[in-house]
Amino acid sequence: MANSCRKLVFNIYIGFYCSAVIMPQKCICPQFTSSPIDEFNKDAEAFPAATNGQIFPWHELRLPTVVIPLHYDLLIHPNLTSLDFVASEKIEVLVRDATQFIVLHSKDLEIINASLQSEEDVRYRKPGERLTVLSYPAHQQIALLVPEKLRADLRYSVAIDFQAKLADGFEGFYKSTYRTLGGEIRTIAVTDFEPTEARMAFPCFDEPLFKANFSIKIRRESRHIALSNMPKVKTIELEGGLLEDHFETTVKMSTYLVAYIVCDFTSVSGTTSSGVKVSIYASPDKWSQTHYALEASLKLLEVYENYFDIHYPLPKLDLIAIPDFASGAMENWGLITCSETSLLFDPRTSSMSDKLWVTKVIAHELAHQWFGNLVTMEWWNDIWLNEGFATYMELISLNITYPELQFDDTFSNTCFEVIKRDSLNSSHPISNQAKTPTQIQEMFDAVSYNKGACILNMLKDFLSEETFRKGIIHYLKKFSYRNAKNDDLWLSLSNNCLESDSTSSGFCYSDSKKTSNTLAFLRENVELKEMMATWTLQKGIPLVVVKREGRSLRLQQERFLSAVSKEDPEWGTLQERYLWHIPVTYSTSSSNVIHRHILKLKTDTLDLSEKTNWVKFNVDTNGYYIVHYEGQGWDKLITLLNQNHTLLRPKDRIGLIHDAFQLVSAGRLTLDKALDLTRYLQHETSIPALLKGLEYLELFYHMVERRNISDVTENLKHHLLQYFKPVIDTQSWVDEGSVWDRMLRSTVLKLACYLNHAPCIQKATELFSQWMESSGKLNIPTDVLKIVYSVGAQTTAGWNYLLEQYELSLSGAEKNKILYALSTSKHQEKLIKLIELGMEGKVIKTQDLAALLFAIARNPKGQQLAWNFVKENWTHLLKKFELGSFPMRTIISGTTSHFSSKDELQEVKLFFESLKAQGSHLDIFQTILEAISKNIKWLEKNLPTLRKWLLISI
Ligand SMILES: [Zn+2]
Repeated sequence: MANSCRKLVFNIYIGFYCSAVIMPQKCICPQFTSSPIDEFNKDAEAFPAATNGQIFPWHELRLPTVVIPLHYDLLIHPNLTSLDFVASEKIEVLVRDATQFIVLHSKDLEIINASLQSEEDVRYRKPGERLTVLSYPAHQQIALLVPEKLRADLRYSVAIDFQAKLADGFEGFYKSTYRTLGGEIRTIAVTDFEPTEARMAFPCFDEPLFKANFSIKIRRESRHIALSNMPKVKTIELEGGLLEDHFETTVKMSTYLVAYIVCDFTSVSGTTSSGVKVSIYASPDKWSQTHYALEASLKLLEVYENYFDIHYPLPKLDLIAIPDFASGAMENWGLITCSETSLLFDPRTSSMSDKLWVTKVIAHELAHQWFGNLVTMEWWNDIWLNEGFATYMELISLNITYPELQFDDTFSNTCFEVIKRDSLNSSHPISNQAKTPTQIQEMFDAVSYNKGACILNMLKDFLSEETFRKGIIHYLKKFSYRNAKNDDLWLSLSNNCLESDSTSSGFCYSDSKKTSNTLAFLRENVELKEMMATWTLQKGIPLVVVKREGRSLRLQQERFLSAVSKEDPEWGTLQERYLWHIPVTYSTSSSNVIHRHILKLKTDTLDLSEKTNWVKFNVDTNGYYIVHYEGQGWDKLITLLNQNHTLLRPKDRIGLIHDAFQLVSAGRLTLDKALDLTRYLQHETSIPALLKGLEYLELFYHMVERRNISDVTENLKHHLLQYFKPVIDTQSWVDEGSVWDRMLRSTVLKLACYLNHAPCIQKATELFSQWMESSGKLNIPTDVLKIVYSVGAQTTAGWNYLLEQYELSLSGAEKNKILYALSTSKHQEKLIKLIELGMEGKVIKTQDLAALLFAIARNPKGQQLAWNFVKENWTHLLKKFELGSFPMRTIISGTTSHFSSKDELQEVKLFFESLKAQGSHLDIFQTILEAISKNIKWLEKNLPTLRKWLLISI
């Protein structure tokens, strides 16, 4: 994805589409000066052959824009016994330019017949003209050839009858099964279309720009119910006892948001103060786990309606827990589909972190009802406009709704997570080229989600909360039911004046809110679009190097590369042309004031107004950049942390720990200095900061343990247990305390038991025995449940018992914990059995295979096993998951990216090359190779230091 021509390609895309669908007037793009049909007639050889050997009249991956859909009438009849469906549709289209064919998307559908009626035919009820259908599967397209040219500016109705099997995987219209308490296996039919799979369920214009209205009818048996985006209007009884549900016509929306489900689920419902009916659906035996989701959804929907100042436009919103689901959740408008663990909360087995996850997922999907559904990106290159915003809105809405979850304190982890990827050369810009379905799927990654959210958070901090909110309201209102691109957002944010506001230099601010931010903003005459282009159109993260010279601060920006040192020959080339407009913030020892400055140049100088002992940049870690303090900078901060760490804000302490270890990877700071920084942690009063420090030490432990470097492993274990003993020993084995008390308990006890700390093992063993004796009925505190199961799984009897319970459990949260515990076994034959069960897909569902392989690869006894399995079974895995899908990417990176030796790197490289030779290519291959090289370098450079530091410390 690292493509230096990206900007050019991006512009071509925008130009090509030229708002053709948004504005109903004729497109004046130069590309359309000759119509596609003329081009076709001129140069027929340039076009591919359809399956029947005839020439297919279109050769682009994207559809022509001469015909656009206005309305779809869909009738679907799935048969849950024969596992197939028959369907028919009528699409009302507008012809914008005379043409002799209509190109649509269609994948794996059998087209029975297609016909066309003009408006006049419809009016006089004349039968439709039968159309010739050509198919070009390589582009997942069909072309309908019309006998007479369709005339410009007229509407036509296209009718298509088609049928297909319900899909086996997780895309399109697929089947899902669940087991009842009584052991019966039942089947449901469900859709999942994003990004490019609506075409597997009905022929359609499957691109986000082609918004239309949908009227859906579903046939079903009386024992089932049918759900769709809109509420049901009526049910008609057909001959033979079948029922046909008619749903209200949808608002104007993209195809990837259409959804329908036939199932036998039950629900709980409530109504928001604005009158929206919210329901949570689950399989009948899991009904009791739906209540928390209902409470959270009702609250969050109201928060968003207020925050965006736009009512949720549909009369109802359903959220449904699907037994087989490949990702966390999908925001279909009015019918959000979720995996069971992302929606259901079981008070008996769901831990605090499970609760946080469910709440986050609901907050994310509900935000999409505005960001994504109401306003949609023009094309998938800007998927961050959906995903970055939805991820960012999790922070805003959870802070308002559930302050006790203290989500604010973990938001920086969202950014740290993506920095791992974005600091490698193989990263990609937020707004990136994506053409093929595989490339589009790969766009759904941490860069779009996390980095998108982090730069929005930085922008909000820069503009002020109020200005930012006004801007996004403006954006949402202006582009409702339409599509937008990056620049539309920047324009809304920089020109969101309300009538009561005063304006200056093209910007506005309200008299009552002349905050220092806004004033600084105006004074420096920032071009928002220009500034944000540096964050969205170029990849990577900047490093701000600060050097103190008396009362002057010399600032320098460069591209931060965690796997390349300044001494490496390629460093210079990799720095070329990178420049950001960085809204830096800093605080000093002399006051509480947050100072702000925009660093637009490579170097800059700031003058301190007062004498000050220390300076800390990136206040509250709100900025998306790393800071390095040259000279005495780090020493002063380390001394400060040791003397009185509370003089720095908790989020600043988290940021310092993060940046220090990042700088070690990049060869800019020595490991002993970063480790010295963690020495103050014994006194750390903020749990998130303590956990951040612990996370790095644990990471190093796993790295040396996996490489079997026994002396360092032993000494690091000793250090961890000795150093964190006071924290470990004060933990209770009860679900009590604040959110962070509970997070701390889970984390430190998990580590203590992993390191074989005797009191931890003893307590966990005791609880596990009691649980087994009670036949699984004893309630173990949820925060330690995973730990107890993991300790129990180390004996054969315990492992077998857990596997039995896994099959019986009705709680997804519990099943996840059991599966993790089973994967920690030291016995290879048990790990092999788990993989076999995962491949079979009955006891362990296929949807859990990726997480299972990831967990086994993290187990030192399983890492080679998991990797060998992936290599030997690649083609089998490809039958279960699409190449670019999230599970496939998890499998490939989960089983390789922790490697840290040259031999392993070579092996992975050869494997990727063989895949490429077979035609399977993913951009993350390069990321993985870089990550392994980084691990190798890290160990070469830092292992001696770590060894020495431990000898001094223990
Ligand atoms: Zn999302």
